[in-house]
Amino acid sequence: METELITKFKEFGLDDKRAADVTKNKKVSKSFEDITAVSPESHVDDEKKLINLHALAAELKGSDIPKINLVVIAILDGRLKSSLQISEAAKYVKEKGESATNEELEVASGVGIELSDDEVKSIITKSLDAIEAEIVEKRYSILPKMLGDMKKVSELKWAKPSLFKPIIDEYFLTKIGPKDDRDVVKKEKKKKAPTAGASSNKGVVEKERSMFTEGFLGDLHKPGENPQKYPELMKKHLEFTKGQVLTRFPPEPNGYLHIGHSKAIMVNFGYAAYHSGKCYLRFDDTNPEAEEEIYFTKIEETIKWLGYTPWKITYSSDYFDELYDLAEELIKAERAYVDHSTPEEIKAQRGLKDDGTLGGERFASKYRSRTVDENLKEFRKMRDGEYGVGEAFLRMKQDLESPNPQMWDLVAYRVLDKPHHRTGSKWKIYPTYDFTHCLVDSFENISHSLCTTEFRLSRVSYEWLCDELKVYRPAQREYGRLNLTGTVLSKRKIAKLVNDHYVRGWDDPRLYTLEAIRRRGIPPGAILSFINTLGVTTSTTNIQIVRFESAVRSYLDATTPRLMMLLHPILVELDNVGDDFREEVEIPFQKGLSSRKLTFTKHFYIDADDYRDEASKEYFRLAPGQPVGLMKVPFNVSVNKVVKDDNGNITKIHCNYDNEKKSKPKTFIQWLPKDEVIKVDQIRIYNQLFHSENPSAHPDGFLKDINPDSEIIIKDALVEKSFELVKEKSPLNVPNPSSEFNIKEAAGNETVRFQALRVGYFGVDKDSTDDKLVLNRIVTLKEDSAKV
Ligand code: ATP
Ligand code: MG
Repeated sequence: METELITKFKEFGLDDKRAADVTKNKKVSKSFEDITAVSPESHVDDEKKLINLHALAAELKGSDIPKINLVVIAILDGRLKSSLQISEAAKYVKEKGESATNEELEVASGVGIELSDDEVKSIITKSLDAIEAEIVEKRYSILPKMLGDMKKVSELKWAKPSLFKPIIDEYFLTKIGPKDDRDVVKKEKKKKAPTAGASSNKGVVEKERSMFTEGFLGDLHKPGENPQKYPELMKKHLEFTKGQVLTRFPPEPNGYLHIGHSKAIMVNFGYAAYHSGKCYLRFDDTNPEAEEEIYFTKIEETIKWLGYTPWKITYSSDYFDELYDLAEELIKAERAYVDHSTPEEIKAQRGLKDDGTLGGERFASKYRSRTVDENLKEFRKMRDGEYGVGEAFLRMKQDLESPNPQMWDLVAYRVLDKPHHRTGSKWKIYPTYDFTHCLVDSFENISHSLCTTEFRLSRVSYEWLCDELKVYRPAQREYGRLNLTGTVLSKRKIAKLVNDHYVRGWDDPRLYTLEAIRRRGIPPGAILSFINTLGVTTSTTNIQIVRFESAVRSYLDATTPRLMMLLHPILVELDNVGDDFREEVEIPFQKGLSSRKLTFTKHFYIDADDYRDEASKEYFRLAPGQPVGLMKVPFNVSVNKVVKDDNGNITKIHCNYDNEKKSKPKTFIQWLPKDEVIKVDQIRIYNQLFHSENPSAHPDGFLKDINPDSEIIIKDALVEKSFELVKEKSPLNVPNPSSEFNIKEAAGNETVRFQALRVGYFGVDKDSTDDKLVLNRIVTLKEDSAKV
C-alpha cells in the first residue's frame, strides 16, 4: 500500500526523499492523495510548487475539504507562494467548507499584495521612527523584540520576514551607532543551590568556564545576521560559507608573536572551531619595509604549537591585483583622489597638530576636487613608478564633517620603493591597512572580523569602504587586549634587550614572546586554559606575571611526573649498615602514571640546604640530634658525624639508619642513591626580568629597571636516573582533568618537563645536548618561593 503510494507520488513529481517523507505520516499522505486527485496537472516539475503542495498537505492533515481544488490551483498557477499564504489559505477553505470562493480565498491569503524591498523598508522605518525616543534610551537591549513587533504590523503581514532583520539592524546602526559598552549585557551569575551534606567540593573536578559561550564571544551574531547595505550580497556570502563561521588571524609578519597574540589566536581559531567553522591564517603583508621571512615561519609554527591548524594560509598580497582594481573603481565612483600634499600637509588637513593630537581645523586638500579622469591618470602614474616616496597618495574621499577621524580622507595607497617578498618588484605602490583589511575580509567571506578595541573607530571606515564598493560587508567586532604587567612586549623594546645582550635572544625564557614561553617549558594547554579562565570582554585585561605563573603552576601540578633532584648535593654515608645493604623503594611518577624503583644503599645524596649544624624550633630538617625522613624510605636517618674540608665546607655526613624503631620525623626530604644519578650541566633559575610592575615607566628608561638576578645558573645539580624515562616518553604527562585544552605536542626538548619534588617545575632547554643536560626552571612550587 505504502509503496504503491510512493510510486504514485513519484509519478506526480516528488523525488524519493520527499515521497517517503509524505507517506511517513498517514494523515499528510491522505491529504496529498486528495491534492493529486484534484490537480489539473498529472505531473508537476516545479520544485517550489511541489514544496508548497507538500506544505498544504501538512496543513490539512487528512481532513476532508470540499474546495481543496481552489488552493491547489492557486499554488500551481503561482498565486500562492509563501508558507504564510498557504497556511492562511488552508485555514480559509477548512473554515468555509462548501461555501469557499476564489475571491475570498485570494483576500484571505494576500494574493497580489506584493511589497517591494523598498516599501518594506519604508514601513519598518516609519514604525521605528514612532518609537525613536525609546530606541535612543534603551539602545540594543530592545532590538531583539523589534523583530517580533514588526511581524505584528498589519501592513507587513505579507512581506518576507527575512527582509526585516537587516533593515532593523541598519536602522539601529545609523540612529545610535555600533554597539558599545552601554550595550554589554550583564549576565546574572546563577547562585549554586547548596547541596545537602556537601560542605566542600574537594575531590570534585571543577570544569573551567568557556570563553566561547560567555561574554563577548557568547554575544556575537550568528553567521548571516550581520547587516548589509545591499542585502543581496549576503546571499552570495552564505552560498560560499554555507552558514559556517569564518574567521581570520591576521598578523603583520614583522615580529615574533607574544602572549597577547595567543589571546587573538584563541579568539579567532578557537571561536571558529567551537562553532565547527574555519579560520584563515592571513599574513597582513602590506608593508614590505618591515617584513622578514623568519617571522612567517615562526608565526605559523607558534599557531600549530598552540594546537590550531589554519584552514588556509593566505597573504594580503595575494589580492594586490583585486585591490588595485577596486581602487580604480573607487576613483570612478568619485570616492578617491590622488593627493600630492606632503605627509605634514595631510596631517594638517586632517586637523592634527604636530604632536599628532587633534585640535586644528580640518580642511580639504586642494587636490580633493580633481576629476575622475585626472585621478585615474595620476593613480596609474603612481602605479607605474612615476612618483617617488611621499610625492603622491591615493586618498579616500570620505566625510570631513564626520566626528570620526577614520572618516577624514584616509590614505588608501602610498608609494614605497621596496621589493616585496612575494610580489617582487611588481609594485611600486602598496595599499594601507585601512584600505586592505576590510576588503580582504570581504574577499575571504569572513563572518566575524574580530580585532582589538583600538580599532573601534575604524569600524566606521571599514563599513564605509565595503559599502561604497558594493562588496559583502563582514562584521568587525572589537574585544579587549591582553596585557602582561611587569614585562615589556613591544617589539622595539625586546629588540633592544636582545641586541644589547640583556637576554639570550627573542626566545629567552624570561621574555613573554610565545617562542620564549615555549622554550621555558610552559605547555600550550596551560596558556589556553589560562586565557579561557580570563574570558573575553571589551575591556583590556591587565595580568601580573605572578598570576600567569600561578595558572601555569596549577596546570603543571595536574599533569607532570615527579622526580627527585638536588641542586647542591652532599654525600651521606650510613655507618650502621654493611656495604651490601640494599632497600628497594617504589615511587609513583604521578597519579595516573606508572612507578619507578630506586635503591636505597649505604651511600646516597641529600641537598646541602637540608642540613644544619644546629637544630631549632622552626627548622624541621636534618641536624645533629634531629633525625629526618627520606621520601618513601621506611626509617629515619640521624647524624653521627660531619666531615668538613679546610674551608669549612661539608664533604660528607655520617648517619645512622634508624631501622630499630619507627618514629615519625618532623619532615621528609628528597634524596638520591649514589649510583643512580645524572649530572645536570646547568640549571637556569629564572626570576622576573624587571623589578617593577611597569618597567616602561622608569624615569631613566626600562633598561634601568632590570633585575640583575633574573638568571642564576647552578652547575653541580644531580637528578634521578629515571629522568631518562621521562625524556624518552616525553611529554610524560597525564591530561589535566579540569581543562579542555590538553594539546598534543610535537616532540622537542621543551616537552621534557617534570616537577622536582620540593624544588620546582623544570624543563629541558634547547641548549641541552646528549651529554650536557641544561634545565630551565619553569616556575617555582609555590608563589612566594621565587628566590633560590
Ligand atoms: P604589537 O604591536 O603588540 O606587536 P600588533 O597589533 O602590531 O601587536 P599584529 O601582528 O597586527 O600585532 O596582531 C595580529 C592580531 O593580534 C591583531 O588582530 C591584533 O589585534 C591582535 N593582538 C595583538 N596584540 C594583542 C594583545 N595584546 N591582546 C590581544 N590581541 C592582540
Ligand atoms: Mg599591528
